[in-house]
Amino acid sequence: MASIFTRIVNGEIPSYKVAENENYYAFLDINPLAKGHTLVIPKMEEDYIFNLPGDVYAGLWEFANKVAKAIDKAVPCKRVGVAVLGMEVPHAHIHLIPIQNESDMLFSNPKLQLSSEEFVAIAKAINEAWEGNRK
Ligand code: AMP
Repeated sequence: MASIFTRIVNGEIPSYKVAENENYYAFLDINPLAKGHTLVIPKMEEDYIFNLPGDVYAGLWEFANKVAKAIDKAVPCKRVGVAVLGMEVPHAHIHLIPIQNESDMLFSNPKLQLSSEEFVAIAKAINEAWEGNRK
């Protein structure tokens, strides 16, 4: 059965998309630790990130780098933090989290409750920065 993230890529489940190319997809985490918390995934379905083929793995980080730069532009933050967990969803993904300090990266922190309007606005801002960086 397709993973929940494959179903997002295929448009079967909605997502707040921030960036996409032929092989990769980025969208807002629905339970964000911070405004702009983004997940970056390969379209290739593989549970464990370190089992991805080398070229897909390298491309994932290159894509994540560009998404992080768009987040940096669109979301006020000191840094974009990076985490890989994969404890919940068996489809490789990188968390990109805009942070002000170290404790903003704690996954045990309470998650933000955002309205769909807020999600849409954040995704739009990051997507515009993404598109702008591509020009
Ligand atoms: P983990 O697999 O431990 O890295 O956690 C999976 C992450 O995916 C969690 O932060 C969830 O909030 C997030 N997540 C799960 N389902 C969705 C979804 N349908 N849309 C956006 N984010 C999701």
